[in-house]
Amino acid sequence: MATRSLFLLPGDGIGPEAMAEVRKIIGFMNDKEAAGFSTDEGLVGGCAYDAHGQAISDADMEKAMAADAVLFGAVGGPKWDAVPYEVRPEAGLLRCRKDMELFANLRPAICYPALANSSSLKQDVIEGLDILIVRELTGGVYFGEPKEIIDLGNGQKRGIDTQVYDTYEIERISAVAFELARTRKNEVCSMEKRNVMKSGVLWNEVVTATHKARFPDVKLSHMLADAGGMQLVRRPKQFDVIVTDNLFGDMLSDIAAMLTGSLGMLPSASLGAPDAKTGKRKALYEPVHGSAPDIAGQGIANPIAMIASFAMCLRYSFNMVAEADRLEAAIAAVLDKGLRTGDIMSDGCKQISTTEMGDAILAAYAG
Ligand code: NAD
Repeated sequence: MATRSLFLLPGDGIGPEAMAEVRKIIGFMNDKEAAGFSTDEGLVGGCAYDAHGQAISDADMEKAMAADAVLFGAVGGPKWDAVPYEVRPEAGLLRCRKDMELFANLRPAICYPALANSSSLKQDVIEGLDILIVRELTGGVYFGEPKEIIDLGNGQKRGIDTQVYDTYEIERISAVAFELARTRKNEVCSMEKRNVMKSGVLWNEVVTATHKARFPDVKLSHMLADAGGMQLVRRPKQFDVIVTDNLFGDMLSDIAAMLTGSLGMLPSASLGAPDAKTGKRKALYEPVHGSAPDIAGQGIANPIAMIASFAMCLRYSFNMVAEADRLEAAIAAVLDKGLRTGDIMSDGCKQISTTEMGDAILAAYAG
């Protein structure tokens, strides 16, 4: 009997091509390992607009809310550049994040040994890197009010954004970071700008208090976010879990991600609060990359970010840690063999298609 429900939203461009490779892995796990996944599928982004005039329909949104986890491909493309703002493809993703209250964004930066020499940093700085950035996703300066441009009447205008955090928002994101640290090296570094921002002072206080009250076993350090940016490129391996706000997290997670190479390799997860009855968190897993319209439909997209997002889903939504480890090891093994999609191709390697990459990873997983 199916006990684990997945809702798939492949989306536009290379989204469906990458999702097809994950579907093969789900099928294998159901057939050979009795994983008991039930899957349903919906439309999001431009394809949903074409079908319903909305970036995601209410019916699909309900299914996303009800599922144990959502796997999301990518949305957007030039075809929908001129559609009204409220129904643009990205609105589908934003609605998922808002309705599911996904306040914690997890972006791992892992350096696969076979790709260590393709980083812009020196190989020894990057080899073996495994850090996790936990970014607050639903608060801070991107959402705070007032948020406006006002006319000062003297030929000048004033642009205003408001950085605002309440205690509960900082408590819940730091709790996610501490909990995840316990499954890793047990270290959290919190980053803010308490030297110049009141919200940074509060952030620092609340993280410290949450640590003391609930997670004293985890090693906690604090760093100013600008220094954190420097340290990420200077000595990234000093970090395990980094927790930070929406704005700093946006930038720091992009810096950390690019330490390891191509967009086609980068997974992410967004988590909500645990359900009061079941303890399960709402969750959406997606590659960091977009719909890559320039290569869509050619069968050459790298499916690894999507497959690694599914590995995160196994780990965080279903506690299938052994399977997640095996799937991540399968990705590393295929790269070790010199198999590459075009975006990560280098001398002496063999270039393969999206499907061949998916098949090779599944074969390595199946052992
Ligand atoms: P993109 O991530 O789609 O592509 C950037 C570049 O990286 C392109 O050259 C692309 O070919 C390459 N690339 C990306 N993923 C790849 C993969 N898996 N394999 C091989 N190459 C890959 O970003 P963009 O070009 O700025 O945006 C394209 C569209 O995607 C736009 O409509 C944008 O709004 C949308 N977008 C969506 C999301 C999302 O769905 N979460 C995120 C970013 C951009």
